[in-house]
Amino acid sequence: MTFTPHDSAKLVYQWPTAAWKQAFRRKLLAWYRQNARDLAWRQTRDPYRVWVSEIMLQQTQVATVARYFPRFVAAFPTIAALAAAPERHVLRLWEGLGYYRRARQLHRAAAVIVREHGGRFPQDAAAVRRLPGIGRYTAGAILSIAFDAREAILEANTVRLLSRLLAYRADPRQTAGQALLWSLAEELLPRRAIGEFNQALMELGALVCKPRDADCGACPVQSLCPTHRQGLQRLVPMVQKPPRVEQVREAAVVVRRRGKVLLVERQPGERWAGLWDFPRFSVAAGSKPESVVLIEGVASCTSVVCRPRELLRTLKHSVTRFRITLECHLADYVRLAPGKRAARPKITWVSPDELDGYPLSVTGRKLARLIAEQGAKV
Ligand code: SF4
Repeated sequence: MTFTPHDSAKLVYQWPTAAWKQAFRRKLLAWYRQNARDLAWRQTRDPYRVWVSEIMLQQTQVATVARYFPRFVAAFPTIAALAAAPERHVLRLWEGLGYYRRARQLHRAAAVIVREHGGRFPQDAAAVRRLPGIGRYTAGAILSIAFDAREAILEANTVRLLSRLLAYRADPRQTAGQALLWSLAEELLPRRAIGEFNQALMELGALVCKPRDADCGACPVQSLCPTHRQGLQRLVPMVQKPPRVEQVREAAVVVRRRGKVLLVERQPGERWAGLWDFPRFSVAAGSKPESVVLIEGVASCTSVVCRPRELLRTLKHSVTRFRITLECHLADYVRLAPGKRAARPKITWVSPDELDGYPLSVTGRKLARLIAEQGAKV
């Protein structure tokens, strides 16, 4: 197979010829038909189900999505059912998947589809890209998989795969690299079976052309791959510097009042917006006594004055690059702090057995289970 060498930003890469592209399509599709994983969202071309799966798969492992997807589409079987559901129910079924903004945007987009497209998922690319939470990649994936539209895709797996197919040594996440890979993704599209081809690209990236250990021995396009030929698998794509990890200390407080506990709704712009939570705040190292820190922290996020009791448990968890030590305390309600009612955060008092109906973060749910186990204490 011959290549045409190009020079971009002083980095030589090789642009595939027509014969290369043809051979690549043939080998890739033959491999995919034999090796594709049997995933629930691949058993349908219903655009709604394809859309839900694509949103869930963003920054989330396939195995995790495989647990959430069937339950979600069973609860909301149509776009209209999703649009009509209260946001709290949608977030409750998303609980544990993280990146909750995705669920809120999915919910908002369902309402737009009902209002502006009669409840039918639009087939026009511009209309799809105007929906909340849908960018170029997601629009391309939904339209190609559901309608076989001639739309390219580029996401983490295909960025890696296509970078290696070009032996592209610069950073593919930068503007020039993105433009280059999008144009390759478009040029590679076959005339038919576009959705299948796009899924095959992602599947090869996920199962064979993996980030650390590219399994070149099992790769159907090994003979076409310049990265394999030059032994550059560890250098392509360019490795990103890992983000700096930061240790953080936080407190969460279970405030009790007549057999109920205090929850506060997380507001837009906050971490976990739309979810409910126990009063939670950062604890800076300082000279104040712990009880004062807890009283001030609870009052600042709920307008409730409390009397701290004992430490219930310490939980460790991570949110993006932050490693959080969460100290969970018990406290009793004293009174509402003075101030205008309208300016107060949205709070509610919930009995331990009602906590199951509220969407919580993973650590919030752990704390809720602890309260349920220790019901007598509340
Ligand atoms: Fe990736 Fe290796 Fe296949 Fe090239 S030969 S596409 S590096 S798995």
